Amino acid sequence: MNQFSVDLTNCDKEPIHIPGKIQAHGFLIAVHKNDFHITYVSENINYFLSKQASGLLDQPLSALDHLLTQQEPEFNIEDLLKLGIIRKNFDAINPHPINIDKKPYYITISESENNWLIEFEPVTLQYDIQGIIGRSASAMLQGRSVSSLLKGAALEVKKLINYDRVMIYKFLNDGHGEVVAEEKNDELEPFFGLHYPASDIPKQARELYKLNLTRLIADVNEQDSDILTYLTDQPLDLTKSNLRAVSPIHIQYLKNMGVYSSFSISLISHGELWGLIACHNYSPKFIDYKAREGAKLIGQILSSALEYRQDEEDSEMVEQFKSTAAILSEYLSQDKYLIDALTDHQRNILSITNATGAAIIFEKRLKTIGQVPVDEDILELAEWLKTSNDESIYYTHRLSEIHSPAKKYKDIASGILACNISKDLGEMIIWFKPELITTINWAGNPDKEVVLSENGLLNLSPRKSFEAWSEVVSNTSEKWMAEEIASVLRIREIIITDVNKKANEIRLLNEKLQSAYEELDTFSYTISHDLRTPLTSIKTYAELMLKNKSLDDHAIKMLSRILIGADKMNFLIKEILNLARVGRSEINFETIDMPSLIQEIKSEVWAAFKADKSELILGHLPNIKGDRTMIAQVFTNLMSNGVKYSLMVEKPVIEISAYIEGGETVYAIKDNGIGIDNRYYDRVFELFKRMDNVKEIEGTGVGLAIVKRVVERHHGRVWFESKLNAGSTFYVAFKNLQ
Ligand code: ADP
Repeated sequence: MNQFSVDLTNCDKEPIHIPGKIQAHGFLIAVHKNDFHITYVSENINYFLSKQASGLLDQPLSALDHLLTQQEPEFNIEDLLKLGIIRKNFDAINPHPINIDKKPYYITISESENNWLIEFEPVTLQYDIQGIIGRSASAMLQGRSVSSLLKGAALEVKKLINYDRVMIYKFLNDGHGEVVAEEKNDELEPFFGLHYPASDIPKQARELYKLNLTRLIADVNEQDSDILTYLTDQPLDLTKSNLRAVSPIHIQYLKNMGVYSSFSISLISHGELWGLIACHNYSPKFIDYKAREGAKLIGQILSSALEYRQDEEDSEMVEQFKSTAAILSEYLSQDKYLIDALTDHQRNILSITNATGAAIIFEKRLKTIGQVPVDEDILELAEWLKTSNDESIYYTHRLSEIHSPAKKYKDIASGILACNISKDLGEMIIWFKPELITTINWAGNPDKEVVLSENGLLNLSPRKSFEAWSEVVSNTSEKWMAEEIASVLRIREIIITDVNKKANEIRLLNEKLQSAYEELDTFSYTISHDLRTPLTSIKTYAELMLKNKSLDDHAIKMLSRILIGADKMNFLIKEILNLARVGRSEINFETIDMPSLIQEIKSEVWAAFKADKSELILGHLPNIKGDRTMIAQVFTNLMSNGVKYSLMVEKPVIEISAYIEGGETVYAIKDNGIGIDNRYYDRVFELFKRMDNVKEIEGTGVGLAIVKRVVERHHGRVWFESKLNAGSTFYVAFKNLQ
């Protein structure tokens, strides 16, 4: 007897393979493998063989022969069993026909741990089914698409077993099932498209579906027959039995649906249970063994056809992804910019997955393709990914549940698949999939299956109501397939190899550039140095000549011009020497007392430009670490420019202050002078470049080039903000060294 009671804590553990009973339309005996003595027998055997079941226990199998030979003189059941054992396979003898009381029966033999199971069931089919199955199989295989294949299979199974309803039920990723094809009598309401919660078919039942490919429940109201045994505490394993009794929970479940008889055929793909062909009849109906075998064959043919079609579709997709990756790899080697190589062509990074949009963030640029959220949202998402995810790849099909800001663009991007190119730099590619608002039509409310039993315990009860109950599933995109993830990893590898290759090329170029710079510095240094001596001579001789009293005005004028020119040249040479020095000299890091440095520079600069009317406002001036001489040069140049380019305004004001942020000390040197036209933003720091609005003002165009070089050698940054005729602010940021 099955003592097992099911509640919420153990429902998945209900031992449905050892129910201790069989369905009563047939009978069963089991014999021990060692001595062929009868170990188990179903109580209903007396109904079929007029022999008390208990009297057979522990008897040799030949005891049964005696009963059977009354019907079939030639028959010896032990010989039949031995034949199967010798062949190591019972397929050839199953089913073996026999008459009992002039009625035809089939004997089927299977294995159960230490026993052989011998089952007897009635024969009801009076014609040969082979031909029908052959025709059914070829009709079914005419379907080219997966859905027509499924529909064809349902139709053929319905023809074969003539049940009221035949459904093909597919298990989805989370274990719940969907009716994907259906053939039914016209008067029945359709179940096509309905979903069933995973708990409707518990785990251990699925395992049995894998081991025993067909399952008949001939009549839910039929009283089961107990299995008797003298072996205590050793229930008979009925995994492979045809007659195994049904779990009371499942019987109740079928009754709730009004089903009297059910038959299912397992569909296996790649060793896993893909789904079931589930057949329902609204009156009791027994299916003959051969018809069941025929249906099983159709199931097997369908399984392999499904496997083949699915593989075919998958491999087409993988081929497409792979060929795109190869093409992109080619573009990467041809195109100068990585982003353009990945997005500018007809085959682009969008084609390596089934995404509908993609974004690349690389070298501080963002480029998108297809359907994507707005730039700010993508950048915010990228920042979140950077901080919250350490893996090289991240994906979800329910983004807004994990990252709430994504709610506002869930229609475009409920699914993301992101891969890092460089985690430190926050460089990455993100693919997007839109929200799929799906309506799941459950067969009854799946959440309402737990009820309180009379004794107050929580009992697992199959749903009583099977009226369709819709649930709208939002915030969810189509799932990312394993093939898409593999494809992204493939392209990531290609990109990283390319980035490294280009970085190496750039490093080599940099090294060359560095030595060219050094040569140029040496050259400018020598040239400037060598020019100074002849220039000093020119100046000295011109001054000597000027002392000559006999010179006329014209000569004096010319000599004065020579002197002015020589002074200008001298100044320029000094500036170039300064620039060359920045490149050549070692940096001696020290803490620089900024308030005193700035005061020193102020005196010099204000004297040089006679800038008494210019006001200097000083803010917070934190110390920085750097080479004092070089930093002095930076501030001299920036403060000189501030003063020089604001002298023409009525009340020139120069402001210097600093703030500390993100590991940097940032100095701002602000003036209210003539400003800079932003169109020339990039040119301001170039050597000898001067803007159009400063033609009347003395200058060489070297000062900011020196600033830039010093700052770069200190691994800092320099930039400015300016407005024409309103003033400029130059910023220099220095790293806060320990
Ligand atoms: P210059 O010797 O001409 O001042 P710089 O290299 O110091 O050379 O500056 C390059 C150019 O940038 C200047 O010629 C000028 O046009 C512009 N510039 C620099 N600083 C300022 C400023 N504070 N206000 C306006 N223009 C400026």
